[in-house]
Amino acid sequence: MTTVESLRTPGAVEAAERWTAHNYHPLPVVIAGADGAWVNDVDGRRYLDCLAGYSALNFGHRHPSLIAAAHAQLDRLTLTSRAFVHDQFAEFCRSLAELCGKDMVLPMNTGAEAVETAIKVSRAWGYRVKGVPAERASIVVAAGNFHGRTTTIISFSTDPDARADFGPYTPGFRVVAYGDLDALDAAIDDTTVAVLIEPIQGEAGVVVPPAGYLTGIRRLCTERNVLFVADEIQSGLGRTGRTFACDHENVVPEMYVLGKALGGGVVPVSAVVAGHEVLGVLKPGEHGSTFGGNPLACAVGTEVVRLLATGEFQRRSAELGERLHARLTALTGQGVVAVRGRGLWAGVDLDPALISGRAASERLAAKGVLAKDTHGSTLRLAPPLVVTAEEIDWAVAQLGAVLTEAR
Ligand SMILES: *Cc1c(COP(=O)(O)O)cnc(C)c1O
Repeated sequence: MTTVESLRTPGAVEAAERWTAHNYHPLPVVIAGADGAWVNDVDGRRYLDCLAGYSALNFGHRHPSLIAAAHAQLDRLTLTSRAFVHDQFAEFCRSLAELCGKDMVLPMNTGAEAVETAIKVSRAWGYRVKGVPAERASIVVAAGNFHGRTTTIISFSTDPDARADFGPYTPGFRVVAYGDLDALDAAIDDTTVAVLIEPIQGEAGVVVPPAGYLTGIRRLCTERNVLFVADEIQSGLGRTGRTFACDHENVVPEMYVLGKALGGGVVPVSAVVAGHEVLGVLKPGEHGSTFGGNPLACAVGTEVVRLLATGEFQRRSAELGERLHARLTALTGQGVVAVRGRGLWAGVDLDPALISGRAASERLAAKGVLAKDTHGSTLRLAPPLVVTAEEIDWAVAQLGAVLTEAR
């Protein structure tokens, strides 16, 4: 009998289809190993990873210092639960709070859990500090958002695939057009506790809001006594060339929601980071997580924060990002319709008459570049921040070749 493990690409793809729910439609690439910006498949082919785990792999695959931190911790202590304090906890929270310029950290595991945490904290702050009448709290969000997959979070999604047949939906959210400050202003009233926004909308296709949008949200939130909650799960931690995408407008939200790269591509680590006046509303027993803030997560997370504190990754993303955007923009008119993004993060709209995003992803994979489509004819590129200038040039050349072959 053949075990699933021993299969080559076609068999392994089939076996994965046979034994799993079909909630994803993966490219037929079966990855067996990785190093830095590169992965290799079960047949020994190599690919440049231009998705980087949806930005969970900002530091590349198996970054030596992250792997060393994980190994060292695995040999000492892996889990205590928050019923006790462990020796990795304070340093992780202190260093992350300092990176964010905030007072307090509430560690969770996945991004969706951190968003749920931010929603609960915002509501509790609304009732206990702002004085919103019981059960009336509202949170303003943007159309095209992606904040995760829980029942509450999909309740305010505008993507039919994410929502349909998963109701009844959680009330308490108002959706306004992304980038529209007047709509946001109109949606805020005395019941509003928070504005929850992605500073750049990742899953929507790397949508950058108009200049001044984040500054405008900051001003409105201050004027109306509303919390600005920035979901920087994908946009944060170096991806856009700054530590946070909010930094591009020198805007500081009340709450940062972090995840993905916070776990260094090793373990799931997420967190909400805020001031005393916000996170301080929680009392023992009101919120928690069995695995949140576990020793392994904290050891890796502390090393992630240390890497970010050097500024090296933000610098690389800014410099190489300019190169990526220049190269991609040069393909405009040759099958590329528009290029958006900041730093090493690009949403590339392809001419739908020429090629779909899916077909482009498949043909790129055949040429050794892994990327992911979104919304029909948009390609997303987000290579690890350890990628080199030559690798970027090569990857964009492969996209150019795919488009030429499609014409
Ligand atoms: C990925 C993502 C999430 C959800 O994170 P999970 O770890 O998949 O739950 C939330 N918000 C944004 C902006 C994301 O990109």
